[in-house]
Amino acid sequence: MLQDDAVMGTNDDASICKRFAVQMGYWKDKYLPYFVRSPERKAPEISRGYFARVAGMKTILDQALKLFADCQIVNLGAGFDTLYWRLEDEGIHVQSFTEVDLPGVTSRKCHAIRSRKPLLQHLAANDNEVKFSTNELHAGNYHLVGVDMRQLSNLQGKLLQESGLNPSIPTIVLSECVLVYVDVASSAALLRWIAETFQVTVFINYEQVNMKDKFGQVMIENLKKRGCDLAGVSVCTNLQAQECRFIDLGWETSKAWDMNEVYHSLPREEITRIERLEFLDETELLEQLLQHYCITVATKGVKEEELKVLGF
Ligand code: SAM
Repeated sequence: MLQDDAVMGTNDDASICKRFAVQMGYWKDKYLPYFVRSPERKAPEISRGYFARVAGMKTILDQALKLFADCQIVNLGAGFDTLYWRLEDEGIHVQSFTEVDLPGVTSRKCHAIRSRKPLLQHLAANDNEVKFSTNELHAGNYHLVGVDMRQLSNLQGKLLQESGLNPSIPTIVLSECVLVYVDVASSAALLRWIAETFQVTVFINYEQVNMKDKFGQVMIENLKKRGCDLAGVSVCTNLQAQECRFIDLGWETSKAWDMNEVYHSLPREEITRIERLEFLDETELLEQLLQHYCITVATKGVKEEELKVLGF
């Protein structure tokens, strides 16, 4: 249980860092302040790293959304992610949007949604009935479920029965800095089940990589403190290992980019804009940081010509 508390605490870390970056103007997120009230100052390289992470995930998600007229999204280990509300504001209304996290996190998310009108009003639109318990919420196309992803049969029930996910609709699965906290056997079973169950699916995974050097060792120590068993990291020592992991588990294609590649592929004007926000003394520090994270995109059932639009 203590270990789960530490893992759930990683959501607070991420949300606080994102909140500060949003406050500084790295990107816009008008809903995050409803989950994290007060920002805490972070070093510029941390904010730039989060900028690359958020922009990178968004780039691939937006590409995938253009491919599928009708689709559903599953966000694994969603924490306080506000993507659902951003998409609704952009007029992107997917068939079903399901967020998964440990009950300790979803109960706090539930509470925030129920007590903040701007969050709730999207869910209650079109006279949707809002059904909630302590740690779960179902309203219209939005589903928030509290479940340990390591308990695969529980997760299956939450997704297929309680949230009504349809295996024959294209399904985009997001996992942003999550799989590293799940032991290898459980994450393997989960990835294999998704590939086997959903006919057309795109998995977008942000995770640690290249951990063998000194910088990586420091990150590993920090992860250990967070209760991570590090098995995920040792499986994915480099980009090729990240790619092979998905192929070995039944995915048809898999491509990984380190976050330096992602950062430099983002629109030039955006990079210029954010680099003016705060002075960064040691740019090597940012490069080092970005080298230790990657985005992997794995697919199943996606047509060859459609694959060309996915990537950096
Ligand atoms: N994806 C969010 C983001 O990027 O802002 C949160 C990332 S946070 C580093 C990791 C999240 O994964 C936490 O919210 C944690 O509770 C969740 N998580 C870790 N292990 C989990 C598990 N076995 N089942 C469900 N959620 C899990």
